[in-house]
Amino acid sequence: MLTLTSNISSLRMIGNVYAAKLNKLSIYTIEDLIYHLPSRYENYTVISKINRLQPGERVTVIGTITKISNSFTKSGKKIQKARLSDETDSIDVIWYNQPFLTRILKAGSAVSLAGNTSIYGFKLMLESPEYELVTSQKSLIHTGRLAPIYPETRGLSSKWIRSRTYSLLTNFLSEIRDYLPARLLADYHLPPLKSALFNIHFPKNLTDVEDARKRLSFDEMFLFQMHSKLNKLKNKKEFTKFRIRNEEFNPKIHGFISSLPFTLTHSQEKSLQEILEDIAEPYPMNRLLEGDVGSGKTVVAAIAMYVVFLNGFKSALMAPTEILAKQHFRTMKNILSPYQIKISLITAENHPDTENTDIYVGTHALIADKIELKNLALAVIDEQQRFGVTQRTKFRQKGDKPHLLSLTATPIPRTLALTVFADLDISVIDEMPTGRKKIKTWVVPENKRASAYNWIKELLKFKENYAKITKQAFIICPFIEESETLTTVKAVKKEYERLSREAFPQLKLGLLHSRLSAKERQKVMSQMENKQIHILVATPIVEVGIDFPDAVVMLIEAAERFGLAQLHQLRGRVGRGRYQSYCLLFSDNANSQTIDRLKLLEKSDKGPILAEYDLRLRGPGEMYGTAQHGFVPFKIADLGDVNLIKTSKTAVETVFEDQSLLNFPPLQDKLRQAKIMYIAPN
Ligand code: ADP
Ligand code: MG
Repeated sequence: MLTLTSNISSLRMIGNVYAAKLNKLSIYTIEDLIYHLPSRYENYTVISKINRLQPGERVTVIGTITKISNSFTKSGKKIQKARLSDETDSIDVIWYNQPFLTRILKAGSAVSLAGNTSIYGFKLMLESPEYELVTSQKSLIHTGRLAPIYPETRGLSSKWIRSRTYSLLTNFLSEIRDYLPARLLADYHLPPLKSALFNIHFPKNLTDVEDARKRLSFDEMFLFQMHSKLNKLKNKKEFTKFRIRNEEFNPKIHGFISSLPFTLTHSQEKSLQEILEDIAEPYPMNRLLEGDVGSGKTVVAAIAMYVVFLNGFKSALMAPTEILAKQHFRTMKNILSPYQIKISLITAENHPDTENTDIYVGTHALIADKIELKNLALAVIDEQQRFGVTQRTKFRQKGDKPHLLSLTATPIPRTLALTVFADLDISVIDEMPTGRKKIKTWVVPENKRASAYNWIKELLKFKENYAKITKQAFIICPFIEESETLTTVKAVKKEYERLSREAFPQLKLGLLHSRLSAKERQKVMSQMENKQIHILVATPIVEVGIDFPDAVVMLIEAAERFGLAQLHQLRGRVGRGRYQSYCLLFSDNANSQTIDRLKLLEKSDKGPILAEYDLRLRGPGEMYGTAQHGFVPFKIADLGDVNLIKTSKTAVETVFEDQSLLNFPPLQDKLRQAKIMYIAPN
């Protein structure tokens, strides 16, 4: 017996070949296909008699094929010519390169054709119309209506999906149970699930679409928030043995803070307070510390680690790259060694004796099986979005329910914070240490490239020549896909050579990318640090964390390939010291939309605002990677829909207040099997 959860390959009308194609769209079950929603509709609702047709109209014409044949154009292309008649008149129809049509449409076939009319010679004709046979058993699904257009993949057309979906809806709709209690439907004016699902695919009009979208978006957001809420309740039931006391250590903590070479900003203090309160609780903390690059998250984490040390426990800080791990290691040593705290660096090449350590700093080498982190009470993940869920989970499992602090410079727009992160506690550092200058940002057109290079040269010049290096620059070359590939490395090498030879022969350039050995990388980094390099040409490997206070220019090639938040993060590599800094954005793509998007960076230096734009323009999936990173892109719910977020939140509260709603069996079933598996960024 087939049910909603049956594999689609078990449907005779689909079979293995098409099932494999559907799998590419993440469609595995009958229910998945029903939930594969149209991205838009082709409007074929105007049905016209042939004698009423006008040129340039988008219409549906119903009639009979009187003749149809394949023929060849002069250039040898196959075309299909047909004539269609109704009781008023007849018209020519033409298709290109669809020879199989003569097997489907024959003289005498009753058909419905939908498409655009055009003039050819002096004659009106229908060009490449959508077609379907008219029978008394079946309503029109491809023509004469709003025809759903779906996200497609190679070999899977909207027409194909539409036919299958129609037949699935006819056969399985009765199986769908509404999991929202009637009271919620009434309270929020939502249509029943069955009609929403049918109407989202085959609406009679746009009001149908609107109602259906409203219901399905509500469901998505509601279920998501139900999961978050349940997760949060579950976390509060878990206990940790690491209750980190801070009151009795207050003098020491204050002493430590005042020994720092700067005073904490208000945001830093507030975030620290929130963290210390959390880790004093008997439940493991799961807190995200969010703040723009350079806002000083590391030191907040360091203070928390110091307090853990005072309690006699251990902490670990994991960073996504070796460069960054080493930098953190140095920072930690600088500020913590005066307190007899033992710090170890753990990387792929470096496995010191971990017994005798209070604070571990490292790359993902920290979570290797052979590494034991005994008594780990606080796990800190820097640039948490760079790690996958499994890595984060593994890190956590190195200890016995340790507290978890995730640091991120990827700003989270408010709307996302309220939804995706509903079960996570968030601290925000929303001010920069005083004295930072705003980074001047320009989107530079290609024809100003040469003058931009000259300008950079002048900027990096010390007095009359280039012999002494004071100010430095980054030039970031594009990367392809998520990670660096060979082609990328080639591209950056080539650019490095071109720049050394043509643009900046007087300057010293360095090259950095991930295919260099750790040793080579380290060498380039120390050259940069020791002012032996003017310009570091690199892949976005430098995105995370590096601190070069005298770097004043960040030039980014093919900037359109990055999200705004990511560009903002790259830009944060400069402007960390005493000089005015600049960010120059080049784009391979001169279209005005791309340029407008990039220009948002000229206007704003607020991470969360740029992130909100990204969210609107590119969607959460693009922004944060896939579900693998702990984010689940919504299929239909608009994360910018504040009203939806509010109503679904209220609905969740209502459900938790009224046991009879919470215990509604279809809802319980749905929660159990929900696809919307929420994975907290832990
Ligand atoms: P991020 O939040 O990007 O990780 P870091 O923690 O690396 O930022 O801090 C950037 C720089 O700012 C570091 O050199 C750090 O010592 C410095 N810093 C941190 N907090 C302050 C502060 N309150 N005042 C001045 N400088 C600070
Ligand atoms: Mg950092």
